[in-house]
Amino acid sequence: MTATKGYAAQSPETALAPWSFERREVGPHDVQFDILFCGVCHSDLHQIKNEWFPGIFPMVPGHEIVGRVIKTGNDVTRFKVGDIAGTGCLVDSCQVCANCKQDLEQYCLEGNTQTYNSYERDGKTPTYGGYSNTIVVREEFVLHISDKLNLAAVAPLLCAGITTYSPLRHWKIGKGHKLAVLGLGGLGHMGVKFGVAFGAEVTVLSTSPKKEADAMKLGAHHFVVTTDEAQLKAAQGSFDFILDTVSAEHDYGMYLSLLKTDGTMICVGAPSKPAQVSVFSLLGGRKSIAGSGIGGIAETQEMLDYCAENNIVSDIEMIDIKDIQSAYDRMLKGDVRYRFVIDMATL
Ligand code: NAP
Ligand code: ZN
Repeated sequence: MTATKGYAAQSPETALAPWSFERREVGPHDVQFDILFCGVCHSDLHQIKNEWFPGIFPMVPGHEIVGRVIKTGNDVTRFKVGDIAGTGCLVDSCQVCANCKQDLEQYCLEGNTQTYNSYERDGKTPTYGGYSNTIVVREEFVLHISDKLNLAAVAPLLCAGITTYSPLRHWKIGKGHKLAVLGLGGLGHMGVKFGVAFGAEVTVLSTSPKKEADAMKLGAHHFVVTTDEAQLKAAQGSFDFILDTVSAEHDYGMYLSLLKTDGTMICVGAPSKPAQVSVFSLLGGRKSIAGSGIGGIAETQEMLDYCAENNIVSDIEMIDIKDIQSAYDRMLKGDVRYRFVIDMATL
């Protein structure tokens, strides 16, 4: 076994603190990499607080992981020691179901294996995430990372990046579309970057008037303060798509009214309480509400390669791991500019 250092929550009531644990030995198909950087996703906070479902504790969060390969199994062909590698939200899946066969491992019909707060395929060994110094992952779930980009700023691409890239590609959003990105946080700011890169006319819908200048710097064309009734009224019926990245309870009906006829609201934000949607907010205008979960491994690699070619990374604030709690506190206030990334050298 491999002795590993990390930060864990021992229960939903306790703060994250240093914790030592073991990872499996590197098997024939495994890659081990030492973690350089790990992004802080709002999903980390939802999960350590048991907001979605009862979690598996102790819990080591973190699924935006970038590092350097230190060991490979005998049958590994795609990685060698010294390569820069990454892992996102997935570390395994059945690999044989209809969805896995179509590169949609995130929708594995037998249930995917998440990077943390999940069980390995044996159904009993817990997985532990990237707030740690090293990780062992089977080769198929390790991503190649270009060393041309700032590696700390690449880390958030592994979740915030793919979670926004995938739906924009799926719904073929680009030139000629009016796209609204709802919520300017970790996912939202990547949604803006990709929407602009794909040629859409992008509006940020935000509760934070102070983020307007940042939204414009990110490439957005318009900014609507959603707490300002006049601005909200002026935006009625104007978008083809809304990419909803909001982490907390919000009024779906109010935002659906901003869609054009036949418009689609794509939910990627995952508040803990069920959404309340009146059917009247859909049938008046033949509107759709949809969801999208992260992305498959092939698409994640495609997104990373696209980012390397187009010089796209996340806007980050680097933190020491000991400051994780204050990062969470700021995240809860919507005060993330625009992703915290842990410098794992501080572990
Ligand atoms: P984040 O950085 O905290 O950003 C969320 C943003 O939502 C905030 O910055 C804020 O933007 C807005 N917001 C917060 N509370 C709001 C409220 N009550 N009403 C309206 N807007 C509000 O979080 P994140 O890391 O981007 O994650 C966002 C959500 O996506 C989380 O629920 C996370 O679990 C989920 N997620 C889903 C997937 C997936 O596969 N679908 C993957 C990753 C994450 P403004 O200040 O601009 O209003
Ligand atoms: Zn995430």
